[in-house]
Amino acid sequence: MKEQLIYEHGQPYGIRDVNGFLFMFTKVTKFSNQEERYRRELADKVQLADDLLSFLKERASGKESASIAQQTEGKINLDPIPCNKCGSLKHVDLSCLNGCDD
Ligand SMILES: [Zn+2]
Repeated sequence: MKEQLIYEHGQPYGIRDVNGFLFMFTKVTKFSNQEERYRRELADKVQLADDLLSFLKERASGKESASIAQQTEGKINLDPIPCNKCGSLKHVDLSCLNGCDD
């Protein structure tokens, strides 16, 4: 995987790839008597960082399968078919332009 989560002082600092940082995170500030808030905000930030990272992973694997789809595109039937309800021609993978829900 190219994207990497960078921690600094125990907090998510940013997400970078081979060329540099893609995302930078704001710092969670620790005040005295606000231990509860600090823990909650830090947990939120870690969760956000994890979510972004898994999104980037999915995006990368989506690109791979998209390029495989392009390679096999010639074999997919692109001929329009008539809509079951209104009979107007539509692409087999798309919904009818008239808004019929088939
Ligand atoms: Zn229709």
